Amino acid sequence: MLDVQNLTFSYAPEQTPWTFSFQLEPGECIAIQGPSGSGKSTLMNLLAGFLTPRSGDLLWKGRSLLKTKPWERPITSVFQENNLFEHLNVLRNIGLGIHPGMKLSVAQQQAVENGLREVGLGGLGRRMPSELSGGQRQRVALLRALLRDQPLLLLDEPLTGLDAETRALLRSMLLQHKSRGTAIVLASHDEEDRQRLADTVWNL
Ligand code: ADP
Ligand code: MG
Repeated sequence: MLDVQNLTFSYAPEQTPWTFSFQLEPGECIAIQGPSGSGKSTLMNLLAGFLTPRSGDLLWKGRSLLKTKPWERPITSVFQENNLFEHLNVLRNIGLGIHPGMKLSVAQQQAVENGLREVGLGGLGRRMPSELSGGQRQRVALLRALLRDQPLLLLDEPLTGLDAETRALLRSMLLQHKSRGTAIVLASHDEEDRQRLADTVWNL
């Protein structure tokens, strides 16, 4: 489904470039492991389309995604932070993720309400991001990503800083989506995240 073919990138011409190659099938999770600065977030940004590779290709179902704008790729990303629009409340942040015009069906609105309850944020839909803790913000970002329901999920340290109970809950939600066919690229320092979620661990 996803075929990363010798995708090379460097921030500066004198820097030795990274070369990334791997494949991912529906329902598969690859965990990217490596010390800080090894290029995990760089890889995520290349896949998401926020960075442009120097060479190589990125195929989705056999077609190149390189000319596809980030928001038109079949991908949702959750980064370490700054995932939310600060001027929009929780419901609007999630709504915008699901539909660019925020026109949600009744079923979708219900899914948002249920999702918020499921991640322990029931009743907080009208809060602004600045009125939430870091962990609550991250739960909103993950919930929005899951509700978007794109076939490929990029998770860059998404559970960092959350308490054990919340991590376990979000991990099980991720596993549910994975079993329904969502493919995941996961950067995580957490051994347990990798063990529970990843089919393959790749060292950078
Ligand atoms: P990781 O996510 O594994 O910690 P990053 O992909 O964020 O690593 O960074 C990899 C390397 O690229 C680091 O040495 C970092 O300093 C460098 N780097 C990251 N972003 C930029 C940038 N915008 N410009 C120049 N160098 C960068
Ligand atoms: Mg990083």
